[in-house]
Amino acid sequence: MDGTTLELVLERKRVKNVNARLRGSTLLVSAPVGMAEERLQPAVRELARKLLRRAHAARVNGEEDALALARKVAGRFPEPPAVGRALFVTTQGGRWGSYSTKTKTVRLNAALRGMPGWVLEAVVAHELAHAFHPDHSPAFWELLGRACPEAGRAEAFLAGVSWFARNIDVVAPVERELLSAEQPRRDARDA
Ligand SMILES: [Zn+2]
Repeated sequence: MDGTTLELVLERKRVKNVNARLRGSTLLVSAPVGMAEERLQPAVRELARKLLRRAHAARVNGEEDALALARKVAGRFPEPPAVGRALFVTTQGGRWGSYSTKTKTVRLNAALRGMPGWVLEAVVAHELAHAFHPDHSPAFWELLGRACPEAGRAEAFLAGVSWFARNIDVVAPVERELLSAEQPRRDARDA
């Protein structure tokens, strides 16, 4: 199917419609007992195509990685908040992320995707901390600091990224080159 080899596991059941699930490269299909083969074939084909497309979209969006990361970060909270879904989106506007207590969904700004893992983790921790404190009160920072000691460093990193993104046109090419040529160090002894 579309260049992917799938193993089909077909089960005839007392169901009304054809249902399919994709587990790795195995397509699990349940079909009505009396459904004719020539009707079943195209239905299975269409479901397989749809599921493969959905799986591809999730892979491209890094959803599995994002979910694993979000759950790992959630586990560092004294009371781990539930994470049902985590994904990168391009609709976050000026925010780095969000967490919906209703749908248990973590949304991350797609611009974070290429950043260091510890920064991504800190953004997830920040959003999850809002599950307990909707504001930026001292209690919020106290909880965030416990779940993610790197939070302050990540805030500074992201502030630097934002600054550079906003000022990219006013940073002279020669300065840009200096910044990207190698990791600028504060002085020789740091090396
Ligand atoms: Zn916040």
